[in-house]
Amino acid sequence: DRPRRVAVLGSTGSIGTSTLDVVRHLPERLELAGLAAHSKWEQLAEQCREFRPRFAVLCDREAFQRADRKSFPAGTELLCGEDGVHRIATDPDTDVVVSAVVGAAGLAGTWAALESGKTVALANKETLVVAGPLVTELAARRGAKLLPVDSEHSAIFQALTGHAAADVDRVVLTASGGPFRGKRACDLETVTREQALRHPTWQMGPKITIDSATLMNKALEVIEARWLFGLTAEQIDVIVHPESIVHSFVEFRDGSVLAQLSPPDMRLPIQLALLHPDRVPGPTKRLDWKALAALRFEQPDRDTFEALELGFEVVRRGGTCGAVLNAANEAAVGRFLNGELAFLDIARCCRAVLSSHDYETRPTLERLLALDRWARQEVARWTRPRTPVAPT
Ligand code: NDP
Ligand code: MG
Repeated sequence: DRPRRVAVLGSTGSIGTSTLDVVRHLPERLELAGLAAHSKWEQLAEQCREFRPRFAVLCDREAFQRADRKSFPAGTELLCGEDGVHRIATDPDTDVVVSAVVGAAGLAGTWAALESGKTVALANKETLVVAGPLVTELAARRGAKLLPVDSEHSAIFQALTGHAAADVDRVVLTASGGPFRGKRACDLETVTREQALRHPTWQMGPKITIDSATLMNKALEVIEARWLFGLTAEQIDVIVHPESIVHSFVEFRDGSVLAQLSPPDMRLPIQLALLHPDRVPGPTKRLDWKALAALRFEQPDRDTFEALELGFEVVRRGGTCGAVLNAANEAAVGRFLNGELAFLDIARCCRAVLSSHDYETRPTLERLLALDRWARQEVARWTRPRTPVAPT
């Protein structure tokens, strides 16, 4: 058996570097065929010197021009932009494509990989939030596997294996609760960028870290679960579990509940998606049962973390809602990180843009991309409506 050949879209990010670490530990099983980054060419070149992939891509044209060709090994061809991503996502020599770009920018590469029938290890949940029905239909039509990397969805996928869909009552996604668990809206008026970027259990890129603080990440994951597992809004629930050891639950119709447990380390779900269905010892530490004093579970505070409800709303309404919510959130998080929007206004602004958009039930991909651009412009103009709230 030759090693599986892997292309990583977003290799310089948090999921990207964790993926490279999995490959580093399993050289007999995995080999890198292509790496793509946005603009961090020095880091990309270093990765190429270690792993010697056939292709490397810089999506950003300026970075491509600036990059020092001599810092890339001779055997690696440096490509540029969307064409480069398309090339490595569809290369006949590649078996698995890891979709680990952040945001809707990850859709094109994921789409190309599925279209050419590749197995996709999906970290980029935004792809399914934006275009769930079109993406899952494409995968089915091309016989391409879509394997979850997101820890909650990996847990559900593992718990579902070997069971009939008809036997599943519902799934319960666990949420760490983020850095502001237990806080009320009045405590969160003046949250700073630095406070929101301090996640208690996971080390991740800045966008998903803010999403975890608002609980928008869980909202996006509710939508992701809907499309990965074909569930209704009523079949999905969320529970806060601060230790991030139980990664989700599946409840069957006989009342039995299956969960997946492991330390909070993304390398495990990544490895599972890359080697599916094989399980081998990898770089992740095992659970230390002696240190496991207690696992806590509590209900999410839906009033303070308004973003959560938006996920369920999008699952119920479908159509254009996912694309609009995702784009509004990306733009709002960008503005928050720039100090232009208050923390609590991220969810408020997303709700406003979502409810004012031109809804359609069965949009085309072009329509979704147009709405993505529209929603970003709306967020750029958004200022908080002056509604004095009477103290209750
Ligand atoms: P990071 O911000 O750490 O990394 C993002 C990666 O995408 C980088 O390689 C970056 O390149 C590249 N990139 C950014 N913008 C573009 C663009 N416009 N075109 C092409 N490439 C681009 O993100 P994460 O690794 O944290 O997250 C990646 C995805 O995985 C997200 O969808 C997230 O929701 C999901 N995910 C992440 C988890 C985690 O633990 N981090 C857990 C579960 C899901 P460069 O470095 O050159 O800018
Ligand atoms: Mg997750």
